[in-house]
Amino acid sequence: MEDVSKSQAALKGLCPRCRQGKIFKKPFYSPTGFDEMYELCPHCGLRYEIEPGYFIGAMYVSYAISGGVALVLGFLIFYLGGDPDGWVYASIIAPVMVVIAPVNFRISRVIWLHYVAGIKYVKGL
Ligand SMILES: [Zn+2]
Repeated sequence: MEDVSKSQAALKGLCPRCRQGKIFKKPFYSPTGFDEMYELCPHCGLRYEIEPGYFIGAMYVSYAISGGVALVLGFLIFYLGGDPDGWVYASIIAPVMVVIAPVNFRISRVIWLHYVAGIKYVKGL
């Protein structure tokens, strides 16, 4: 079996333990169900939500990502737009936040599982 690196597995949204099973049931662009996760890894049976409220921590990751995106956008608008009125910032940044929300939701959970949770990769599971 081909070895999948940690970053490849994270990018593809695969289980942190076996790097084979998917974490999410549907693609991120699915309007209904982008947030639906498998309870257990379909390949190795790892329970993704180790304890109730386990993914609350992923909210901090999500907050950092959206804060970073908003900050970068704010600087871009400031320098490229010549510091326009406040409503210009809001009317550009707010819709972008809504559009990236599904991706952000998933990325933060994947980062949480792969890089924060301390789940060890078990080869050949
Ligand atoms: Zn697995």
